[in-house]
Amino acid sequence: MTHAAPTLSIVCPIHNEEEALPGFFAELLPLLEASGETHEILCINDGSRDASLAVLQSYQQRHPQIRVIDLSRNFGKEAALSCGLDLARGQAVVPIDADLQDPPELIIDMLRVWRQGFDVVLAQRTDRSQDSLLKRKTAEWFYRFHNLISEPPIPPNVGDFRLLDRKVVDALKQLPERRRFMKGLFAWVGFRQATLPYARRVRTAGESKFSGWRLWNFALEGITSFSTAPLRIWAYLGLGIALLAFLFGLFIIGHTLMYGRDLPGYASMITVVLFLGGIQLIGLGMLGEYIGRIFSETKGRPIYIIREPDQDAP
Ligand code: UDP
Ligand code: MG
Repeated sequence: MTHAAPTLSIVCPIHNEEEALPGFFAELLPLLEASGETHEILCINDGSRDASLAVLQSYQQRHPQIRVIDLSRNFGKEAALSCGLDLARGQAVVPIDADLQDPPELIIDMLRVWRQGFDVVLAQRTDRSQDSLLKRKTAEWFYRFHNLISEPPIPPNVGDFRLLDRKVVDALKQLPERRRFMKGLFAWVGFRQATLPYARRVRTAGESKFSGWRLWNFALEGITSFSTAPLRIWAYLGLGIALLAFLFGLFIIGHTLMYGRDLPGYASMITVVLFLGGIQLIGLGMLGEYIGRIFSETKGRPIYIIREPDQDAP
């Protein structure tokens, strides 16, 4: 194994991808070979329960540029990616999915744009037609809502597939948070960015690890990590409701003075009580989202744990 820093590091988080890996390497290895760049491929096994680790190790034996890092359990894609970025030694680092949804040939174009002086080369999906209508719409709403209330905005339809210069990776490594919404962190560090369009392919083998519920939580993570608007909106909402209640109170007083006492309406009363109760619970729940995150940040636990370091680990 070589200890000299390569030009390019590929970082691939892997969770139960035994079926996808052969196709992935069959495409990636010749491509990188042909590029003539010195490179390493970091495969982060994120607690796979299938034969992914064994498959990875067999490839590693035949190809010394492959480094296999085995996490102690499933920490989630964001953590696996953080681990890969921490251990990558390349001058340029490209995170990529193992299912070939991120087309490897784009890496060559990314390198070209990087050499023109850009620090981050984003790969933007122009075609999401293989995603369901529901997924496309919810993704669109997410980006719109997130960017409405969060600073800095994240570019829509850009995933983790991108090229990062060494400077950018070092900046990311300085961010202390434990809960890592990578897309947001990538945007937060800034640097000079260029965008390359690409058509996202369909998954080659195996199935998506992100169910609807997991995506919902992922979206919440993104919003609560980069915006305090959901915390602050309650003060304004409360102020608005209190103002309306005050005006309504004045109206009732005037009405009673002029027309005498009225029989109060049960239906409107209960509606208001239930509505306000609901609003308060939503506000409390939102507080809970943030407090939960503060709680997990203050514990300061490591983002991931490596079961066994690879021989090349620094
Ligand atoms: N992944 C991971 N840990 C997880 C879930 C996913 O490392 O807990 C990896 C997965 O193996 C793949 C990448 O993250 O390489 C993207 O996952 P997937 O293709 O399921 O996501 P989708 O493309 O459906 O958003
Ligand atoms: Mg995928």
